[in-house]
Amino acid sequence: MATHSMNSPAADGGRAHDHRDRKGMALIEAAEQALVATGEQWTPMRAAVFTALASFDRPASAYDVTDAVSAAQERRVAANSVYRILDLFVARNVAMRVESANAYVANAHPDCSHDCIFLVCDSCRRATHVDDDALGHMLRDQAEKRGFRPAKSVIELRGQCEACRDAPDH
Ligand SMILES: [Zn+2]
Ligand SMILES: [Zn+2]
Ligand SMILES: [Zn+2]
Repeated sequence: MATHSMNSPAADGGRAHDHRDRKGMALIEAAEQALVATGEQWTPMRAAVFTALASFDRPASAYDVTDAVSAAQERRVAANSVYRILDLFVARNVAMRVESANAYVANAHPDCSHDCIFLVCDSCRRATHVDDDALGHMLRDQAEKRGFRPAKSVIELRGQCEACRDAPDH
């Protein structure tokens, strides 16, 4: 468990907090609590979308998530409603968009917000999630020095992950 300083537009910068990255059922429960805390309901459909999203080991497109929810529910769910739920999740810090992959990931820390950094592998498409608040602060400071008011950061590196670099065919 690492101690980070809070770094979101909504938070007062530099406040240390008890940071946890979660997975499995603990992640689903944390996401439910975080969503409900924003005044949104954790409906069965939202729960199904989050559970499907969290089951992927790499960023998933809205279509990937729609297919997974459809398979789990043994009925065809509408891609539109999955899209809307994913966008709601992103707006409420329960999921994040990996912009360069045009895909979504479950937020491993739905109860706190950071300028999350993604290392996106061009070979296996997995994304490694990194939180480095010092880097986020530096970027926001640079923006503000130029009179720019930052709202949301998108920091992504494309390349090859350690596993793919070590694979014999690379
Ligand atoms: Zn945190
Ligand atoms: Zn993060
Ligand atoms: Zn890889």
